[in-house]
Amino acid sequence: MAVGVLALQGDFREHAALLRSLGADVELVRRPEELARVSGLVIPGGESSVMDKLSRAFGLAEPLREAISAGLPVYGTCAGLIMLADTVLDAIAGQESIGGLDIAVRRNAFGSQIASFETDLDVPVLGEPPVHAVFIRAPIVEVVGPRARALATLADGRCVAVEQGNLLGTSFHPEITGEHRFHDYFLQKVAVAAFHR
Ligand code: GLN
Repeated sequence: MAVGVLALQGDFREHAALLRSLGADVELVRRPEELARVSGLVIPGGESSVMDKLSRAFGLAEPLREAISAGLPVYGTCAGLIMLADTVLDAIAGQESIGGLDIAVRRNAFGSQIASFETDLDVPVLGEPPVHAVFIRAPIVEVVGPRARALATLADGRCVAVEQGNLLGTSFHPEITGEHRFHDYFLQKVAVAAFHR
């Protein structure tokens, strides 16, 4: 059972290395044929407007939408979360998302490049200890729709991690801090879904 990492742009190498360290068979996904072989997909951090353009140019956007509606487990971090959001606020002109998560995210919600920060987050589904979360030009989940649920919020109550069925998304980057519990949690979804087409 292979787990894909969308490798068009962004920090896909870090996700691939982390998933491999957890024992997953990882496939980098750049083409529809590669997407068709995986039982789950991670969409990395990077730049969502570029990832959007490349996913359309590579003919991946539509197959990915179809796979998500058929139940493919997908985990998006930061730009990946933006790609999974049904609604993107502060998108660039013409920017589209893949969608699937019943949420509205605001891009660059903490300001520009300099507005990156780290904090410890309680994530009840992962238990103790708190997650050390690194935010880099991160989005915030402004609206959590009725089909999605918040998994973590900042001290001020703003949502930064969500789940909806087989979809998982975080505003921050567990793949760069040695935090593996989100990826474990995602691999459990992949194993339970045992998604095949
Ligand atoms: N600001 C980026 C975007 O809009 C996301 C940043 C990240 O993935 N670290 O896509």
